[in-house]
Amino acid sequence: MQKHILEIIYLIASVTFIGGLKFLGHPSTARRGNLLAAFGMTFAIFGTIFLYQTEQGSHLKNLPFIFLALGIGTLLGFIAAKKVQMTAMPEMVSLFNGMGGACAMLISIIEFQHIHEKSPLIILAGLIIGSISFSGSIVAWGKLSGKIKDLNLKFQQYISILLLLVIVYFAYDVSCLDAASMATSFYTLLALSLLYGVLFVFPIGGADMPVVISLLNSFTGVAAACGGFLYDNKVMLVGGILVGSAGTLLTIVMCNAMNRSLLNVLIGNFGGNAAASNSGNSGIQGNIKELTASDAAILMKYAKKVVIVPGYGLAVAQAQHVVHELEMLLESEGIEVKYAIHPVAGRMPGHMNVLLAESNVSYDKLVEMEEINPEFTTTDVVLVVGANDVVNPAAKTDPSSPIYGMPILDVESAQHVIVNKRSMKAGYAGIENELFYHPKTSMLFGDAKKALTQLVSEIKALG
Ligand code: NDP
Repeated sequence: MQKHILEIIYLIASVTFIGGLKFLGHPSTARRGNLLAAFGMTFAIFGTIFLYQTEQGSHLKNLPFIFLALGIGTLLGFIAAKKVQMTAMPEMVSLFNGMGGACAMLISIIEFQHIHEKSPLIILAGLIIGSISFSGSIVAWGKLSGKIKDLNLKFQQYISILLLLVIVYFAYDVSCLDAASMATSFYTLLALSLLYGVLFVFPIGGADMPVVISLLNSFTGVAAACGGFLYDNKVMLVGGILVGSAGTLLTIVMCNAMNRSLLNVLIGNFGGNAAASNSGNSGIQGNIKELTASDAAILMKYAKKVVIVPGYGLAVAQAQHVVHELEMLLESEGIEVKYAIHPVAGRMPGHMNVLLAESNVSYDKLVEMEEINPEFTTTDVVLVVGANDVVNPAAKTDPSSPIYGMPILDVESAQHVIVNKRSMKAGYAGIENELFYHPKTSMLFGDAKKALTQLVSEIKALG
């Protein structure tokens, strides 16, 4: 009887995951989606704790330890999520993703004693994918938070391929050996998989991190699904498959957005020339033109169409509310305003959408890159707020650039480009931006929140 109730709980939880994912598809319902899926997960966890029975009919033991671990995990997760700055969100997501990989890895380590009673293939797959996801996500966390720099080993590509082959060999070796003699090979496999995760993410430079982040996300899902197979646990299986497939789809979307092939990611040669170009000095000739907030106000007030390009700096400055105020002010003057959303702007997929939704910018004002690019020719003023790499023409013109080939927002096709940032410093890819020296471009230096607040006052003052 208890077994059947548990199956029903798992079914309900699986439905909440699917419903949650559906709601996550739109900013206005995303919060509800998150809560729904979290409720389903809690339901499944407590169902398992109280109703799970082994074939011999015994329940889970060590309940005090289980509740202690649950309590510590919940508390840490709660405090971390409450305290996190919006700008540190991408790092936190990466870290949490790594924890999922670590869980799958630990399950395989524990189940290794029963490797021949259960499915060796699933245990080994969980171990390899979970370990790669864990160590890779930790490196991604370090890189997103600026604690770890890109490291490009010579022959990186060949080392990665060789390591993958060695991993396959050890996996085969473990599955052929008897239980007593397989421990050394099993732990070597664990160490090699962890090493591969590190080597795979370390050299990812330039603008290629988004692809890797979504790929690691899908790895964690697949690793969790392996755990579901292993324990014949439907809810774990459904959850893992959903994360795995959503992550895979996101990886494909990101690859298309970056104009990269997935094969390059898998052999770890992404942004291979990033280190060389990361000096931030590509020797661009030319002068920069600076303008004041009042000059910018005049340009914008007499425009018919303004496109705002938000980037990571908007999140750093927390200028999403004032940018919305600027948008409403311009619209009240009869000016058409749109936002140009580059797929990798910010530091996590959908970062700009989330940020602008927070300040209630209407969703239909956010226009994707492919749709907005042809519109720049009919735009009077483009206001770039804290964006850099996503508007860097080097992606089109400089084959030695780490972002070469990435589609960018063609802002220089507009009549005027105003770029707001604090200095001439580079963005994430660490390279100079020719756009800042373009004859159509004027720089409005300063923190985005302060600069836009001043811009709003100047436009109001024009009457
Ligand atoms: P960038 O990182 O290229 O540039 C951001 C710019 O914002 C900087 O040049 C900085 O210049 C400026 N800035 C920082 N703080 C402020 C502030 N307070 N006020 C005004 N400006 C500020 O951002 P983009 O959004 O253009 O590009 C995103 C980059 O991040 C891409 O390379 C992408 O590949 C990468 N990435 C994206 C991920 C994703 O999933 N979206 C994940 C990982 C990486 P200054 O210091 O002079 O102010």
